[in-house]
Amino acid sequence: MSVNSRLIALRKKIRTNQKKIIDVLIENHQAVLCIFCGSAEELTREHVIPQWVYGRCTKRTFIINTNGSSQKYNKTTLPACKDCNSHILGLLERHLKHEFDRVDIKSSSFTEETTEFIILWLETLEYKFQVLDLRRKLNRVKGSEYSPYIGKMPIAMFQGPMDTSPSKVFSNLRGSLKTLSVKSKSARINSIVVFSTTNTDFHFFHSTNNFIFIELAEFGVAFFYFTKRIFNSPEEAHSAAIEIISKEYG
Ligand SMILES: [Zn+2]
Repeated sequence: MSVNSRLIALRKKIRTNQKKIIDVLIENHQAVLCIFCGSAEELTREHVIPQWVYGRCTKRTFIINTNGSSQKYNKTTLPACKDCNSHILGLLERHLKHEFDRVDIKSSSFTEETTEFIILWLETLEYKFQVLDLRRKLNRVKGSEYSPYIGKMPIAMFQGPMDTSPSKVFSNLRGSLKTLSVKSKSARINSIVVFSTTNTDFHFFHSTNNFIFIELAEFGVAFFYFTKRIFNSPEEAHSAAIEIISKEYG
């Protein structure tokens, strides 16, 4: 089966079950169900960042900006059914790896179809991080006194310049799952910046509802994706991405 026909199946599953899934997650943040289709059958552990992405890299933890704690990539998983995890998203990732191998970004560029697949893939990362932020307890706010009451609240409530209300967190979560059921990503095409890279390390940083930066050292390519912002031109997005990257890596 082709990537496209499996993605049709995924979109259909999401459209049918999205309300139920989000309602269950709001009721119980730790609920065990496929976060994409809501199924409770044949559940697997879906890595938030797939292992092939950081395979050769030894720095396998990421820092949660909100509370300064670190988390191991290989231990950070969410429940997803075998069909969503392996058959659908697994096939999408295998297809993308093949494209990353085949296209030399220094002299060429990805087709529009591939770019839309990359956007969808990055959107699945964003959604997974939102679910993860809901499931993780804050415990400690960077630079502040520990408060036992606040510490029990999900990290998701502490993102952005102002703390985020629960209703905002839940509507973001609904929105990011719904986004996965939208077929065309053409309206988002200026929101992705593709870089060629010669770094040998895997780099990743992410700001919920804002952006994702992911550098795939093995394939010599990096992506900066603005999850919400719309740009008039690729150049505009490029400058905005460079500004954030230089702040992050100083
Ligand atoms: Zn599923």
